Amino acid sequence: MKIFTKTNKLIQYLSQYKSESIGFVPTMGALHNGHISLIKRSVEENDITIVSIFVNPTQFLEGEDLDKYPKKIEADKKVCSFAGVDILFIPTKEEIYFEDELSFIAPKTKGFILEGYHRPGHFNGVLQVVLKLLNITKPTNAYFGKKDAQQLYLVKKMIKELFLNINIVECEIVRDESALALSSRNEYLTSAEKERAKSIPNSLKKATELISKGELSSVKIKKEIAKTLIEVKVEYIEIVDRDFNKLEQIELGNTIILVAAYVGTTRLIDNIWI
Ligand code: AMP
Repeated sequence: MKIFTKTNKLIQYLSQYKSESIGFVPTMGALHNGHISLIKRSVEENDITIVSIFVNPTQFLEGEDLDKYPKKIEADKKVCSFAGVDILFIPTKEEIYFEDELSFIAPKTKGFILEGYHRPGHFNGVLQVVLKLLNITKPTNAYFGKKDAQQLYLVKKMIKELFLNINIVECEIVRDESALALSSRNEYLTSAEKERAKSIPNSLKKATELISKGELSSVKIKKEIAKTLIEVKVEYIEIVDRDFNKLEQIELGNTIILVAAYVGTTRLIDNIWI
């Protein structure tokens, strides 16, 4: 596995690949099995796999966890090497950002609802860094998790609307034995908080059970989810279609149910695709 920290060096190195398929997995590191599932899929589906580890400052709001975001760079290198990654890109922020950059603004509605409403400007930074990383790596396929459903939607929208010739591969959510969606931020949780966090996947499970019994009213399903979300501080519960339009009624095959909640001081998100 080759490791690059300099953008120019990586671009120069990649110029040798003319006909190979390139898979790209952008991450913020502290890799877990969720990341590894994306990486393994890329390794299977491409000649070359590039993983980036970059805790992107522009997608964090003032007062968020940028400074304490978990860092495990040595372990991450081993994970990547073991998973068959060809190229690991670990840039500093100076390698990615310049002075007085052009502004980057996410779509005015879909980029500022749900996650974008509670973290205003978050998706500006996400799309900015994703576009830069895609321009650097020029992948055939780029791998994103459904865990960050709104991010995935906005990245696909950007690819389409900026006419980029990149295939976005949507990857399933990986969960732990208690069904909690894996996240680097789960490391912040104490064991008591982990117990309380279980009510998040439980609430989504409850929703699918109701739907399978024929309940299609979003209002009723949201109420039941709220009842199941005990000992966490709910930020939002929302039911949208795959284009992030709010749904009054569940549409089978076109629905995402999303939850964001604080467990202690840790903010967790989860969702389920119906
Ligand atoms: P992050 O390092 O949190 O920015 O995540 C990097 C990529 O991994 C994103 O595309 C995430 O959606 C994806 N990801 C994170 N957690 C999971 C998970 N539990 N299952 C599947 N994909 C995930």
